[in-house]
Amino acid sequence: MLRILMLSILLLGVAPAQAQEIRVGIFHELNMRGISLSANEGSYEVFGDTTSLGMLETVNIQWKSNGVGVTTNGVVSVFDTLLLIKQNETASVKLKGISPTTKQHFYEDNFEVTHGPKGLRIVNRVSMNNYLSGVIESEGGGGRHLEYYKVQALMSRTYAIKNSHRHSKDGYNVCDGTHCQAYHNKLRYTPKIRTAVEESEGMVLVDQNNKLVTSYFSANCGGQTCDASYVWNTSVSYLEPFIDTFCIHTRQATWTKSIDRYAWRNYLRDQFGVTEAKHGDLIYNFQCNDRTAFYIHPSLGVPMRDLRTKFRLKSAYFSTRLENGKVILEGHGFGHGVGLCQEGAMEMANQGYDYTQIARFYFHNVKVLDWRRNQFFQQTGFGSE
Ligand SMILES: [Zn+2]
Ligand SMILES: [Zn+2]
Repeated sequence: MLRILMLSILLLGVAPAQAQEIRVGIFHELNMRGISLSANEGSYEVFGDTTSLGMLETVNIQWKSNGVGVTTNGVVSVFDTLLLIKQNETASVKLKGISPTTKQHFYEDNFEVTHGPKGLRIVNRVSMNNYLSGVIESEGGGGRHLEYYKVQALMSRTYAIKNSHRHSKDGYNVCDGTHCQAYHNKLRYTPKIRTAVEESEGMVLVDQNNKLVTSYFSANCGGQTCDASYVWNTSVSYLEPFIDTFCIHTRQATWTKSIDRYAWRNYLRDQFGVTEAKHGDLIYNFQCNDRTAFYIHPSLGVPMRDLRTKFRLKSAYFSTRLENGKVILEGHGFGHGVGLCQEGAMEMANQGYDYTQIARFYFHNVKVLDWRRNQFFQQTGFGSE
């Protein structure tokens, strides 16, 4: 209960009617020692601790051993916290790294810069909707169906809320890298992404105990989703594997690769003690009709995922045969195959399924519900749905 209340305060602020805000750590791995921030659209008021430094043109901010340094009229002032607060509903900043140098990035909403042990701690305090639009855009791919973008919004929102404590020691909720969800930028959103985020506002995916699901997804499951235990050694109730016929005629449904037979043989021998002497040509021949955790037979102890990693395969779902001194691999899908299959979801959207149907196809015994409403129920003791 305490966690839920804390999360509520963290994400919703004190007034639930306000837009949800999320704190995103920017350039979190770069240990920035100097940056420049300037208004791109609208205007910003700058505060050094509680003192207004006026409206923003451009501020150059340096990391100092005792705080955050700002140079105005040739004089450096040091503060604990520098805040950039937008003065218009739609305002955005340009952020450029000076030390180290980065290219210019654009962000919406507010900024907070504080002193970190190795560099500036740069936090974009951004509305949840603007953040999700940026994440969906960073995931790439324009021209998708609206319902597909809504599924992406649902997945990304579920992830962000579920992982909102991931960087609490750093002073923000999530980082901007693939460690959390890539969030590079703003302002090029197709209107469709914006619409998808707004039309699905607040909606998250929960399991039968009303716990937020872990929103796994991959590019293409190859026609059969993967048991989470094959990848991470843990089973997840809502991720039971199943047949997906929506993705089998798409771009990344199949792949082939040929590998030198000796490279294959040596790896099996050195890593797993599986040898040609003991097993003959069997070690090159495997007909894989269903996804399996192990190559050929569990008794050999060769995980498909290890082969995938070693030989940089698109997936861990493939058959093998020997041909002219090469091991020919014929595989299905792209990615780990657990959870939502992106190409299958795109096809479902094109066929007219709505985003809740798509989510419930890939995750079992789950519900799509409004997280804000669910919290309200829990806090007021009415119980959840
Ligand atoms: Zn992270
Ligand atoms: Zn699929």
